This record gives sequence, structure tokens and C-alpha cells, in this order.
Amino acid sequence: MSRSLVVGNWKMHASQAQVNELLGALKAGMPALDRIEVAVCPPYPYLMQAAHLLAGSGIALGAQNLAVEASGAYTGEVSGPMLGDVGCRYVIVGHSERRRLYGEDNALVAQKFRAAVSHGLVPILCVGEQLAEREADATEAVLAAQIDAVLELCGDEALAGAVIAYEPVWAIGTGRVATPEQAQASHRFIRDRVSRGGRTPTLLYGGSVKPDNAAGLFAQPDVDGGLIGGASLVADQFLSICKAAL
Ligand code: PEP
Repeated sequence: MSRSLVVGNWKMHASQAQVNELLGALKAGMPALDRIEVAVCPPYPYLMQAAHLLAGSGIALGAQNLAVEASGAYTGEVSGPMLGDVGCRYVIVGHSERRRLYGEDNALVAQKFRAAVSHGLVPILCVGEQLAEREADATEAVLAAQIDAVLELCGDEALAGAVIAYEPVWAIGTGRVATPEQAQASHRFIRDRVSRGGRTPTLLYGGSVKPDNAAGLFAQPDVDGGLIGGASLVADQFLSICKAAL
């Protein structure tokens, strides 16, 4: 891949005023986007506002989730065509919070991945093990099951051209970051499993990435960037992390 990718997952945070402030600061401080690509994923109600603010900035827009269906009687859901219509390029699928809190299993995540691709969005597929699974030496088995569900439904090609975020669940929002070596080992495993015909996915590390640990993680050969939660809400921190990916 040519450019590193840094994506901010704002989760269920922000207000109109904060969107103005945060995106204003990001636009003012962002380094040239020739060597990195940057995207932010605000909550649904702020996507339009963010799209207007980001127009012409080079910073891309993403969403945090999507429905499997394209339209219909699905109260409360938001579809892929709607996300594309408001300017999203990316959509996160299978974040561990959606798996854990909203019961999204591998089969549903695979359907969401397929929906994203079929509507022209780039899915950011989140995979990662729980702490107990790591301690039981089951990390690779968990990653394989999460990836294989998507491979089986969507085919090798879809995954080889996608973005996959390795997010060990024990590192998300905990301040406990994976070591660069742990991240690299999982990324290598994922790349080997999905790279086909010379195509290889963009692999992001996510889980407590901060300005002081980003460079070490991004220096790993199979880490192509990061998916950033908490630190993406603080302009200075997110900008430092973007610069660490240069
Ligand atoms: C995330 O939610 O995807 C994430 C990586 O969060 P944090 O950076 O806060 O650990």
C-alpha cells in the first residue's frame, strides 16, 4: 500500500459545537496528505455537518456502523446507500463494542461487510481477541474465525482490497496497549490469511493508541496505520498520531 491510514472513531461522543471545533483544528493542523490518508467517523447525526466542514480538506469521512439492508421498514437503522449519499467513504463493521453490546456475531458482521462493499463503501473490518482468549493462546483461532466468516461470504478478493483493524479487545479504551511485537505478530497472521493474488489489505492497529506509543506501533512492517478511539477526540493528540504515521 502506498499511504498509511489513520482513522478516528468518535464513538457516541460530540455535539454540533464540538464537531465544528474539532474539525476546524484538524483542518488547520493536518500535515500534507500525500503520505497519509486520514478519516474521521462521527456519530450519524453529525455526518452531514462533518461532510460540509471537510469538503476540499482531503480528510475522508466514515461511519461507525451500517444496516445489512439497503432500505425498507427497519426502524432506527441507517443503510450503506444513505452513508454514501452523505459523503462517507468508509464504514466500520464489527467493532468489538457492537459485537459485545449489540450481539453482532461473525455471520452478521460478514453480511454488513458485504453490504458495505456492494454499496461502494470501504469497510473497516474490526477483529480482535478478548484477554482470556489471548491468555488461552487462542488469539489466532479467534482472528481466523472472524476473518473466515467474511472470506466465506464475500470471497478472497473483497477482503484483500479492504481495511482490517486489529483491535485486541483488552486494549480498547483501557490504556493497556499491545506491544509493537504483539501487534506485528497478529498483523502478520491476518495478512497471510487474506492476501491473495498480490492484493493485500490495509491493516490498522487499534487499542489505546496515543501520541507516545503511535510511532513504535506504526514502525512495524505489517502495521499500515491506526484506528483511534479516545485520542481522536482531542485535536492535538489525533494530529500527533497522524504525524507519527508519516
Ligand atoms: C476503538 O474504539 O476502536 C479504539 C481503538 O479505542 P481507543 O483508542 O480509545 O482504545
